[in-house]
Amino acid sequence: MDIRKEMERLVSQLTEYQKAYYVDANPLVSDMEYDRLYDELLALEKEHSDMVLPDSPTHRVGSDLSNDFPEFRHTIPVLSLDKAYSRDEVIAFMDKTIIRQQKDLSFVAEEKIDGISMVLYYEKGVLVRGVTRGNGEVGNDVTENIRTIASVPLRLSEPVDIAVRGEVFISKKAFQEVNSHLDEEKKAANARNLAAGTVRRQRSIEAAAVPLDIFCYEGFWSEGKESPESHLEILSFLKNLGFKINPHLACFSESEEKSREMLKEAGLEGRAYSFSQMQDYIDFKTAERKGLEYEIDGLVFKVNEIRVREELGYTEHHPRWAIAYKFESPQAVSRLIGITVQVGRTGRITPVAELEPVALGGSTIRRATLHNQEYIDSLELAIGDTVSIVKRGDVIPQVEDVIEKNEEGNTVYHIDPLCPCCKTRLEKEGAHLFCPNPLCPEQEIGNLSFFSSRSQMDIETLGPKTIRIFYDAGLLRKVEDIYTADYASMVGSKGIGEKTVEAIIRSVEESKRQPFKIVLSSLGISEIGKKSAEILISGGFDSIDKLENARLEDLVAIEGIGEKTATIIIESFKNQRLLDTIEALKKAGVHMSSAEDESDEAPLEKTLEGTVWCVTGSFEHFNPRSKAMEEVEKRGGRTVSSVTGKTTHLLAGKNGGSKLAEAERLGVKIVSEEEFLRMIGDGGEKNDSKGGQLELF
Ligand code: NAD
Repeated sequence: MDIRKEMERLVSQLTEYQKAYYVDANPLVSDMEYDRLYDELLALEKEHSDMVLPDSPTHRVGSDLSNDFPEFRHTIPVLSLDKAYSRDEVIAFMDKTIIRQQKDLSFVAEEKIDGISMVLYYEKGVLVRGVTRGNGEVGNDVTENIRTIASVPLRLSEPVDIAVRGEVFISKKAFQEVNSHLDEEKKAANARNLAAGTVRRQRSIEAAAVPLDIFCYEGFWSEGKESPESHLEILSFLKNLGFKINPHLACFSESEEKSREMLKEAGLEGRAYSFSQMQDYIDFKTAERKGLEYEIDGLVFKVNEIRVREELGYTEHHPRWAIAYKFESPQAVSRLIGITVQVGRTGRITPVAELEPVALGGSTIRRATLHNQEYIDSLELAIGDTVSIVKRGDVIPQVEDVIEKNEEGNTVYHIDPLCPCCKTRLEKEGAHLFCPNPLCPEQEIGNLSFFSSRSQMDIETLGPKTIRIFYDAGLLRKVEDIYTADYASMVGSKGIGEKTVEAIIRSVEESKRQPFKIVLSSLGISEIGKKSAEILISGGFDSIDKLENARLEDLVAIEGIGEKTATIIIESFKNQRLLDTIEALKKAGVHMSSAEDESDEAPLEKTLEGTVWCVTGSFEHFNPRSKAMEEVEKRGGRTVSSVTGKTTHLLAGKNGGSKLAEAERLGVKIVSEEEFLRMIGDGGEKNDSKGGQLELF
């Protein structure tokens, strides 16, 4: 295939479809077909990043610009959204954002209204312009039509200069009503198309005849004005100014109570969730969707803290601080060329489909899960069949259906009764097959990889491939070996250099500071994941010794621990292999109680108490700059996102911008990075918490 030609073909095809969709409100193909082509282009661009065409639709916002209306240059970023198709992708986005920012964050979830993106501009509280998204930089001025929307306030309760983003839509009922009166050839295919067409009517009297509505979801105050510190605060301000806010909000934070408190504080209705309740929320919205009075095509998750949003910024296409979960999962069609059988760390056997490469959800798919033999049987799946693949509920794609049977006469696939790794006879437990041999190399490698993974002990340099090399060399077998292995003996073999070994030793050493909660959930004890580790610890079992000696009735007495879980935990601690591991990890200095966590974290002196800091520019030692803010907060100082009369210090890095000028104007003390390092008593050693770890592969 000529890659460049294929890219050109896709770009021109997508551009044509975009015009029909955004400008003419008369799509030529289904969204599914559009997304399929878009994904194909995205996958090609990922593999050939040097060949991306400058006008590729993946690198800019789909344009709704037309010549029928005057143009207006936006004064705010008006972009699209990054997409996710599963709960796990949303969680991965949140985790990545939290890890990157190294602090507790909260997220606001909103309904993704299936309508037309609109920006409303107000001067001194009066609506002066309604502008379409356009190409993200320039939009069409459709003010006269926007004025006809009853829920768009023409005058606000305060004389503010503000730009507000919202989604114009028409309710399901009004759509049916209006559409039923239209001539056959003028009928719109759906509510979104009718709303899009109405916004672009040449005569506003025609627009006024269609009962459009709006939900507003972002506000941008003019430069220099005190701006809100959270998204909830923005929504609350918008509501008080007279905008229509969608009350179907949700707030996510580390606990349900905290989320509830945050909503209450902002004076907003909404549902409160902890991060672990994501599936409940998605299930609830998926069910609720059909009964809503208007169409939604997904959910939007946004970082609540504005300061963090500023740090994350934007790509050319979307903000890095938000993600849209789409209800409809993308699908693709491919041919099954083989089935590989994998052994997990618990011994569970998973058949994996090997597929002819196909683009799906922005990446090229070569493998998809088949879950277990029962699933294969239910599909009557055989090698050579043509299958549909979907990304749903899981980041891992799955084979959904057989579309065409193979012509080679292959019959339904059967998993071999022996473990593909150690040849032990497999045993059936529920729907799954298991390898019962705890010394099965694949299980041992799986356990080692899980223990050292980023979300567990975070020994970054010991990834699955590196672990496999050390395993094959006989250096690692059990997780405790990680702390005693003679890594230096591997220098010179399999491309392992001295620097790599140094980095491994350093990250292994650092992992000894991981809190007990993480250690406990890394031991691979069934039923003890991060959440249950937290519950056990706050229920009083804050050391491994207490857990080892726990009685069933004590565990069951803890809220959130059921009898089944308690029994499995008690049984696990009878396993000599686990007890040996615990003893060895204790010896290595890994935290085996919460008390050890506390002694590692001696609080700093509150030398910055009473000060209020704003941070601007980029830094050599604090990257991202939230690290500088953490240093202030650890020493009792407060941090804010804009310079006001209450700000006492501005920490100014390179390219400080408007905050620097504002600080000078208000006489706020400006502190350089060097001075700051002296103030916090750091001689200037690089604040690189990861200690410059190297990736082996
Ligand atoms: P999008 O519609 O998937 O998401 C971004 C938009 O969501 C934002 O611009 C905003 O207007 C809107 N939105 C609604 N509620 C929101 C909220 N609460 N917070 C923030 N934003 C909210 O992205 P897009 O770039 O507008 O459109 C891409 C999609 O449009 C494609 O995936 C495809 O499904 C469809 N499309 C179809 C065709 C076709 O020919 N059928 C052509 C082009 C695009």
